Amino acid sequence: MVQETPQSNRNSQNQNSNQKRGFNNGWLLLILALVLFAAALFPETQRGEQVPYSQFIEQVKAGEVKKVTIGEQQIEYLLKPDAVEQEQQPRQRYTYTVPSDANLTEILEEHDVEYTGAPAGNSSGWLIGILSWVIPPLLFFGIGYLALMRAQGGANSPVMSVGKSKARIYTEGSTDCSFKDIAGVDEAKEELQEVVDYLKNAAKYSRLGAKIPKGVLLVGPPGTGKTLLAKAVAGEANVPFLSISGSEFIEMFVGVGASRVRDLFQQAQQQAPCIIFIDELDALGKSRGGTGTMTGTGSNDEQEQTLNQLLNEMDGFDANKGVIVLGATNRPEVLDPALQRPGRFDRQVLVDRPDKKGRQAILEVHVGNIKLAEEVDLSVIAARTPGFAGADLANLVNEAALLAARNDHEYVTMADFDEALERVIAGLEKKSRVLQDEEKQTVAYHEVGHAMVGALMPAAGSVEKISIVPRGAGALGYTLQLPEEDRFLMAEDEIRGRIAIMLAGRSAEEVVFGKVSTGASDDIQKATDLAERCVTLYGMSDRLGPIAFEKPQQQYIPGLSSPRRSVGPEVTTAIDEEVKNIVEGAHWMAQHILHENRDVLEETAQSLLEEEVLEGDDLSQQLSKVKAPASLEEWLKTGKLPESASKESQDRSINQGATIGNSKLN
Ligand code: ADP
Ligand code: ZN
Repeated sequence: MVQETPQSNRNSQNQNSNQKRGFNNGWLLLILALVLFAAALFPETQRGEQVPYSQFIEQVKAGEVKKVTIGEQQIEYLLKPDAVEQEQQPRQRYTYTVPSDANLTEILEEHDVEYTGAPAGNSSGWLIGILSWVIPPLLFFGIGYLALMRAQGGANSPVMSVGKSKARIYTEGSTDCSFKDIAGVDEAKEELQEVVDYLKNAAKYSRLGAKIPKGVLLVGPPGTGKTLLAKAVAGEANVPFLSISGSEFIEMFVGVGASRVRDLFQQAQQQAPCIIFIDELDALGKSRGGTGTMTGTGSNDEQEQTLNQLLNEMDGFDANKGVIVLGATNRPEVLDPALQRPGRFDRQVLVDRPDKKGRQAILEVHVGNIKLAEEVDLSVIAARTPGFAGADLANLVNEAALLAARNDHEYVTMADFDEALERVIAGLEKKSRVLQDEEKQTVAYHEVGHAMVGALMPAAGSVEKISIVPRGAGALGYTLQLPEEDRFLMAEDEIRGRIAIMLAGRSAEEVVFGKVSTGASDDIQKATDLAERCVTLYGMSDRLGPIAFEKPQQQYIPGLSSPRRSVGPEVTTAIDEEVKNIVEGAHWMAQHILHENRDVLEETAQSLLEEEVLEGDDLSQQLSKVKAPASLEEWLKTGKLPESASKESQDRSINQGATIGNSKLN
């Protein structure tokens, strides 16, 4: 539970409301003046009581009317004194002109009524005329005034509060969050422990003349617990926590962001010692100058002003007073270099996705208040969730608990976790989506292709499940292959294997139907990326040698430099050829495997079409029938294909319309 308290102290609040009142009074007076002005004029225009035209004619015919003024739109008339029954009733009446009534004057004359015309644009007309002259400029200046105030951002009126920082401030100790709540990021915790110490014992450090760091940058993918860590630092040090997101700084009006930054630091200094947490720092700290990466609302100007203000503030305050700024980003490479100079965010703490042990620890934190069945083994779940961030794991636990409740289980069981895992991995089941038969067939062969090739490749893990039940997020089917353990290093043969697995879906479509669908685009993208990294980053190409052709991310500024080192045209061509070789080799091997095991492919795909889901013993039995071709081992080791490969592929492409080994690969 986090308590939010109003942002200012009493004093400044009083000031606020005073100014607010002053501002409102100005507008009130103006509006009042307008209303009075209008009220003074309107009685002139609509005299007396409105009546239907027919009544007016009747009254004329009855001889009750004394005088008539015929306007373009209105007819005003005065009744004779004796025509009104009661004294209080007004004698003055009006009605609307009926233009088609051409004999009005005739009737009036007949009954001896005095009549006259009204000037075009009667009284209400000229009033509207005046107002239409007066109001637009008033509005114009009013809006201009508001915009100006916003831009200056100094004023504290309600409209002006756009310029105020929207920092949510948590009072002392109430972030309720400590390092205990965070698991799997031990290194980050250790480094932040120092920050806690600075905040607690600022005096100790300044006594010795040490400069406490002002800014710490938490770098890591979304959901890994950066916000949580920042809160925990505040919680551990028992200081207030001011938090704001970088995207909140970006406004339409130039200057608003800057004033928010100013305001934020002012508040922080009043509350010191405290933590300022800026989430999504990249949203406001994007590299300045010429890259043109700004999109959406807000001009470059605005962005630059905001960033400059932040730099100024960070230079201006004295960290030894106990204000420490924590920034979070998942894209440190786009940050303006000025932000990371000494005295600003000069420390980086990496908050990475947790490994298996870390995941288990995070799961343990999150199952804290959940009733678990005894059989539930968190280490098994941790093993099955490589790549999950803390937020994903929290989500998984919650999903499992929800499922258990829906299934009326007394405890959350392993089966609930299994189902939750599937959901989290592939998006929620979308049973309503019906596939065309042909589509379904394509998907089935595609997925079986992945599974069969996957079963043969080294260190790829076991294929746990194939499904052609359509799921959310555009996945029509999926093959779940879970590695037995986390992999931090991949050997060459594993990479080849992985690329072959990725291409196996498309290869199956080619082998069976002789044509490909669009469904494989994601696979192809991933396979090509991996092959390119082999050549340009891992130095795995014999032809090009162990040279890195890709720059590390810190040196690469989007828009300014190219991610590739400057290389000659021959090298560029060689890289492209090598990437193509790797991809095509893997493609050939995947096709070859499926071709050689065509009967297994058919059988498995048919039973998948029938069952929609294959898993467990059935699946592993089926996949154990897949035979490795003779050339597989050699290819995994060296990347070399048998002599017959190119001829075979040509034959195949003639037979089935598939195109490999030449440039028509699309
Ligand atoms: P980030 O700021 O990195 O995007 P958050 O700190 O907002 O991620 O994490 C979102 C949620 O995920 C947290 O509230 C917490 O429930 C869970 N979570 C993330 N990382 C961890 C972790 N290391 N340990 C425990 N819970 C975590
Ligand atoms: Zn696929």
